[in-house]
Amino acid sequence: GGRWSLKGMTALVTGGTRGIGHAIVEELARFGAIVHTCSRNQTELNQRLLDWESKGLTVTASVCDLLSRAQREKLMDTVSSVFHGKLNILVNNAGVTTVPKETTEFTAEDFSAIMGTNFESAYHLCQLAHPLLKSSGNGSIVFISSVGGVKAFPLCSIYSASKAAMNQLTKNLACEWAKDNIRANSVAPGVTRTSLLDNVEQDPKGMEVVSRLVSQNPIGRIGEPNEVSSLVAFLCFPAASYITGQLRWVSKMIQHTVPG
Ligand code: NDP
Repeated sequence: GGRWSLKGMTALVTGGTRGIGHAIVEELARFGAIVHTCSRNQTELNQRLLDWESKGLTVTASVCDLLSRAQREKLMDTVSSVFHGKLNILVNNAGVTTVPKETTEFTAEDFSAIMGTNFESAYHLCQLAHPLLKSSGNGSIVFISSVGGVKAFPLCSIYSASKAAMNQLTKNLACEWAKDNIRANSVAPGVTRTSLLDNVEQDPKGMEVVSRLVSQNPIGRIGEPNEVSSLVAFLCFPAASYITGQLRWVSKMIQHTVPG
């Protein structure tokens, strides 16, 4: 163990096949955690498992569509049996967005997919994980939020609301579950180079929003997934034992809002 180590800890990271989740899986495993991850794509999961094995990282995985309540329950059953009923770290990372749209253009399907994946599934996984986190004696939940959940980015009102809901849940859980030795924190990345961003940039309006957001960043470039995962790992270390209920931006935005 030790203050700056995750040795002996168990972790569930949702959406670990690509992007930020992939970097978090590797970061936690390199610091000594045993990691379980999930995504909807069995083929991609299998490829990642081979790659992690060749890198000497201890990772297991199972397919789960987090939009399904039944599949979330099955995922937590799997996690419980793989980790013998004890989970130290839950990272609610998996998230989706759509092409940029005005609020008047979003459909009911957009609403269910975005709120369901980004918020409802994270909420339910916290409920399901609670007994496992408590049994570990030292639990830590990290939500992958977004600066969009704090500031008004254009053309993504549902996504932003889903992240703002996470930010609030972070504070509630920090207060409710401190007595169970469970901490809860939220990490809010800015624009980060992932497949989600590639998809947003396919759309001309998406490309414009992204370049405006990047111009708001003092470092003036797009972030890398491993520049987010480092902060997630820190929040899980024993060294972070007094940090709870916090929302931490990965990088500053100069203005407070980005008008549409
Ligand atoms: P990616 O799209 O690159 O990766 C998302 C991961 O989540 C994939 O592994 C994907 O696998 C999985 N996933 C998506 N939907 C589901 C589902 N229903 N069930 C199970 N797994 C699912 O996204 P990012 O890495 O960019 O995003 C990760 C998190 O970071 C998200 O919450 C996002 O909102 C947040 N974020 C990203 C920013 C960015 O600029 N990239 C900025 C701020 C926040 P599969 O599709 O195969 O299921």
